[in-house]
Amino acid sequence: MISARRLAQEVRGGLSAEAATIAALESIEEQSALGAFLHVDRDSALAQARAVDRRRSAGEALGTLAGVPIAIKDLLATRDAPTTCASKMLTRDGRVESGWRPPYDASVIERLRAEDAILIGKTNLDEFAMGSSNENSGFYPVRNPWDPSRAPGGSSGGSAASVAAGLSWLALGTDTGGSIRQPAAFCGVVGMKPSYGRVSRYGLVAFASSLDVIGPFANDVADAALLFDAIAGPDSRDSTCSARAATPCHQGLETDTSVQGLRVGIPEEYFQAGLDPQVEAAVRRAADRMAQAGAKLVPISLPHTRYGVATYYLIATAEASSNLARFDGVRFGLRVEEPGSDLGQLYAKSRGRGFGREVKRRIMLGTYALSAGYYDAYYKRAQLARALIQQDFHTAFEQVDVMLTPVSPTPAFRLGEKTDDPLTMYLADVYTLPASLAGLPAISLPCGVTQATDDAPVLPIGCQLIAGAMQEPLLFRTANALERLLSDLGTPPCPARERSRASDFGAAGIGG
Ligand code: GLN
Repeated sequence: MISARRLAQEVRGGLSAEAATIAALESIEEQSALGAFLHVDRDSALAQARAVDRRRSAGEALGTLAGVPIAIKDLLATRDAPTTCASKMLTRDGRVESGWRPPYDASVIERLRAEDAILIGKTNLDEFAMGSSNENSGFYPVRNPWDPSRAPGGSSGGSAASVAAGLSWLALGTDTGGSIRQPAAFCGVVGMKPSYGRVSRYGLVAFASSLDVIGPFANDVADAALLFDAIAGPDSRDSTCSARAATPCHQGLETDTSVQGLRVGIPEEYFQAGLDPQVEAAVRRAADRMAQAGAKLVPISLPHTRYGVATYYLIATAEASSNLARFDGVRFGLRVEEPGSDLGQLYAKSRGRGFGREVKRRIMLGTYALSAGYYDAYYKRAQLARALIQQDFHTAFEQVDVMLTPVSPTPAFRLGEKTDDPLTMYLADVYTLPASLAGLPAISLPCGVTQATDDAPVLPIGCQLIAGAMQEPLLFRTANALERLLSDLGTPPCPARERSRASDFGAAGIGG
């Protein structure tokens, strides 16, 4: 598959955006069994592509994402498509097509349109982004393109699967506690979580407002940087968005590949019991390659890591319980109104029917943590623990420039394997939650594959780089350098990708 940056360049130079869009649409259709998409509007995608082609013919300059099909996590408001958050609560009758139609675009969507990207469809997710496997979707699960019996990760599983299977060149996801990084690792693609406040959240349906961020999925680091550059920067409509201009990250990546003298922290708490030996070996190999190329590996400690899971699952649920109060059966989507029922019953019945089990569990946990009498013991203590976790990073970044860790303790697990045990599912987020609690930028990139066995095919393994707040340029530079250092691993292609039409697009010579 040619890169998104090359595709955009070719489209600016005369290649048909419509042809690229048709290739993506056909791939999506061929691979509909993956469940990656909730909504695809062929006519709208083709109309966008034709408009780009027309503007080029009229001599207009095209944007950085000219003609590049991008998949959008269905937690982002798009004015020409339903926005369901994979929840029946936001539909009138339980079907995606009866989903809420926002009268506006999220800021990131406006920016993609301004760069002439093609919004190809809305991707599946765990309901309201609550989950790590995509099995909590209110509609259907997503399947891992490497092995359809496995989870693609979550909550942005549809976006990760779309890029991995070659259904779109790029995708947007959101990450509250790992929802970009973990599915990227499970699907063998690059996924990047920006610093909190680096990308506008205007038009993102809120899960946990002090943690939510929007970020890119791509086939390689440079493409992820290209998409990041398009969406990052100030926005007066989101008061939590930094007013400082974003430093471009994409330019210079081709040439700036040295890690000489870079101090890479290896946090001991991220390599303990529970880490799959194949994942550990792949991440340590990545560290060794950086050392061989001149980086300095520095053993560090983030001592409060062990409180990360408890802290996150108190703060995120507390914020979610408040944010999800707006879905009441009156303003949006589903309304269950029975004759003679009062307003309280309308709320209860609508919410009872509209929300799935995991969402209800989170609302109850969060309401409990915030309730008078328990607030001090849970929510307040979680805030204190969050400050300690932030302080850990702060101290460690006095000694190192970036950190290298695993993304997830295991490769992609089987669908159904953890659904009966939410605590086990939560514990698997152990390596992604701390950077979220600290608001730091982090990226997940492929660093190898597992060995095939009788009951498991080859599965991708990801590693995570974490940088200090607002250090996205350093993060991308380091990730790009590491990607090159690992380029000779001979990773086999994703099996679903091999079947995708879009992945051949342009391969036989552009336009061929
Ligand atoms: N897996 C975590 C959760 O279930 C993170 C989800 C996310 O980042 N949206 O909350």
